[in-house]
Amino acid sequence: MAKIVPQPGIMDIALYEGGKSKVDGVSNIVKLSSNENPFGPSEAAQEAVRRAVHEMHRYPSTDHTPLRTAIAEVHGLNADNIICGVGSDEIIHFLCQAYAGPGDEVVHTEHGFAMYKISAKAAGATPVEVKETERVTDVDAILAGCTKKTKLVFIANPNNPTGTMIGMAEIERLAEGIPPQAILVLDGAYAEYVEGYDGGAKLVEARDNVVMTRTFSKLYGLGGVRVGWGYAPKDIIDVLNRIRGPFNLSNVALAAAEAAVKDAAYVEKCRAENTRMRTWLAEALMEHGVPSDTSTANFILARFADQEEAEACDLFLQKNGIIVRRVAGYNLPAALRITVGDEASCRRVAHTVGLFK
Ligand code: PMP
Repeated sequence: MAKIVPQPGIMDIALYEGGKSKVDGVSNIVKLSSNENPFGPSEAAQEAVRRAVHEMHRYPSTDHTPLRTAIAEVHGLNADNIICGVGSDEIIHFLCQAYAGPGDEVVHTEHGFAMYKISAKAAGATPVEVKETERVTDVDAILAGCTKKTKLVFIANPNNPTGTMIGMAEIERLAEGIPPQAILVLDGAYAEYVEGYDGGAKLVEARDNVVMTRTFSKLYGLGGVRVGWGYAPKDIIDVLNRIRGPFNLSNVALAAAEAAVKDAAYVEKCRAENTRMRTWLAEALMEHGVPSDTSTANFILARFADQEEAEACDLFLQKNGIIVRRVAGYNLPAALRITVGDEASCRRVAHTVGLFK
């Protein structure tokens, strides 16, 4: 089995912040703000990209058969029920374009992924933000937030930015309880980080109102290449394919994703390393008086006394070359989301939070 080789985790902030350094004089940057895999893509995926570059003058496949077949084989799914997109963002976007318009409502949770709201608005629909009492996806609150205008209900499991997860019994209750005209979208962007993950494929196959989405941007380390996919009943796949451009994915993206999904050993290795460092980071932060929610993904939600302290810590981290994510926009003003990096990055962020405290 190939050894995981850490990619450079320390880079110039200018690469990430629109060409401008946010903090004068800081050039030694570690980026822990976008839940990327610190080890990058597998060697097999990189090799596939090198080969695909020779096909740059050719248009790509329009129906993505090799990639859909590979995904279906690895996950035990039906390839005809898979659609591939430019990141799972594009699948979310297609769903909103196809199923929600003016006068329709799209339900998401207050601590849920921002793209649901953005895509709903782009489709002319009204995003409906459901308040939650705990930081775990609240099925009762979501059901109470549905009306006869609800067309789509989005949840991420594990959820971003809380990192928490709900079980299949709760998801089934949600699929059963939403109004008949609504579709439940189960976003599994962080699925690969959970051993024995159940993304709800059986539910997709048994019902006509459930869709699953997945991505190559997180554990597979291909965020910059942009590939995601959806699993849905055939009627929904047909509708989504009508709005999908025929050449939405490049040769390079298709080749990278196909090689990545077949590399089970790399998935195992990255998952194990993430679990190890996530536990380490949560404990190290706790020792410095910063608790975090129990995460199932590749980031942790670090909790501070209040918004002022969270922002002060963020600024202190920036001054020390560490970029993490503020999540006030997710109604979590007193928290910071920190991606689990490689060991050096985790040690550095924990040490710096310790200095702050
Ligand atoms: N869903 C969730 C919950 C995410 O956190 C993200 C990425 N931040 C996405 C979907 C979209 O990922 P991508 O478009 O890169 O596949």
